[in-house]
Amino acid sequence: MRVTPAAERAVRDGHPWVFENSIREISREGVSGDIAVLFDRKNRFLAVGLFDPESPIRVRILSAGSPAKVGAGLFRTRLAEALKLRRRLVDDPETTGFRILSGEGDRVPGLVLDRYGEGLVLKCYTPAWLPWLDELRSALDELLPSSVLAYLPSRGVSGSPATPDTLRTPVLLSGPPLDDGLEFLEGGLRYRAHPFVGHKTGFYLDQRENRARVRELARGLRVLNVFSYTGGFSLAAAAGGAPGVLSTDLSEPALREAERHFELNAGLEAVRSAAHETRTGDAFEVMEALDTAGERFGMVVVDPPSFAREKGQEAGALRAYGKLTQLALKLIEPGGILVQASCTARIDAESFFLSVLNTARSADRSLEVIAQTGHPVDHPVRHPEGEYLKCLFGRVPTAS
Ligand code: SAH
Repeated sequence: MRVTPAAERAVRDGHPWVFENSIREISREGVSGDIAVLFDRKNRFLAVGLFDPESPIRVRILSAGSPAKVGAGLFRTRLAEALKLRRRLVDDPETTGFRILSGEGDRVPGLVLDRYGEGLVLKCYTPAWLPWLDELRSALDELLPSSVLAYLPSRGVSGSPATPDTLRTPVLLSGPPLDDGLEFLEGGLRYRAHPFVGHKTGFYLDQRENRARVRELARGLRVLNVFSYTGGFSLAAAAGGAPGVLSTDLSEPALREAERHFELNAGLEAVRSAAHETRTGDAFEVMEALDTAGERFGMVVVDPPSFAREKGQEAGALRAYGKLTQLALKLIEPGGILVQASCTARIDAESFFLSVLNTARSADRSLEVIAQTGHPVDHPVRHPEGEYLKCLFGRVPTAS
């Protein structure tokens, strides 16, 4: 296969995708999961990847620069590189939940592998990976033997004609039924992921370092966790010494699971003595109602879902972030802390941070920045489209 000069340069520089409209010449039409070999203008090897005839991302690059045989050996190499990058996490007995393969960031585009304690969860974002599952499993068995392996298809994979019927829905490839989810540790706290009913692979592993920071900062503060999902930040705040935590989310089952996270950690004095409340409802409405009721908090965490999944939604997303900043600031006591995150890839970190800071300034509550964070080590970024996570920790003035 040959591609345009611009695509050739991008691939040489490490970009993991070749778009449909960058392809100039193709020796034959392949099927999903075929190996695509790319040559440059001088007929030299450029890269090898997986072909996906259904997606505008026609080829996902597995190896560029030097020829590589696609199969268990290459997958083993990628896995070994990924484990090396995460050495600190692999060696930490207090943290047994983290992302092992993060798609493009670990040079396995379209593939995610998460570890939750004794279990592994594999999520495929393209049917091009499906013909390679056996080879992938043999690499896993060798480097990461585990008692549970769950498989999840993305929405696109479930709906693809290239996907075999048996792989259209989540399946347990090995291990006992996952009725109670998969338990794991994070900084010594017990958490549970529910791969078959939850978001992502069952938990927001990408917020681990931000949760640790919340835990460090929460001592003595009443904490409001907006868009709490299963209470990841709520438990971290309680463990860090927050005397009271209010978790709020639109999803009732997520809030029940947040309560169970507190029960699971009742062995810890700080968690046992923290008063945890939940409130089901729309974040904007709940925050308005809390303000009207005169409720105030020492820390407000705001970690909403992506606000701009499609092109053209960026301005609306920034407006929504601004509104959330305004609402949160009204609820924060003097000297308190705002923690606001964004997982919208279409909004870059700088625009997001500026939006939060400018909104605070306009509200006469200029923030003193404690930290501006990005991707944790187990969610590496190798191409601009892959950078989605950012979080600002800021302190409001003690007196306005
Ligand atoms: N902060 C969480 C992850 C948040 S995911 C964590 O660290 O685990 C986004 C959450 O927002 C989901 O739980 C979803 O149920 C919730 N949500 C989506 N729209 C909402 C809305 N309008 N109001 C309140 N919650 C909402």
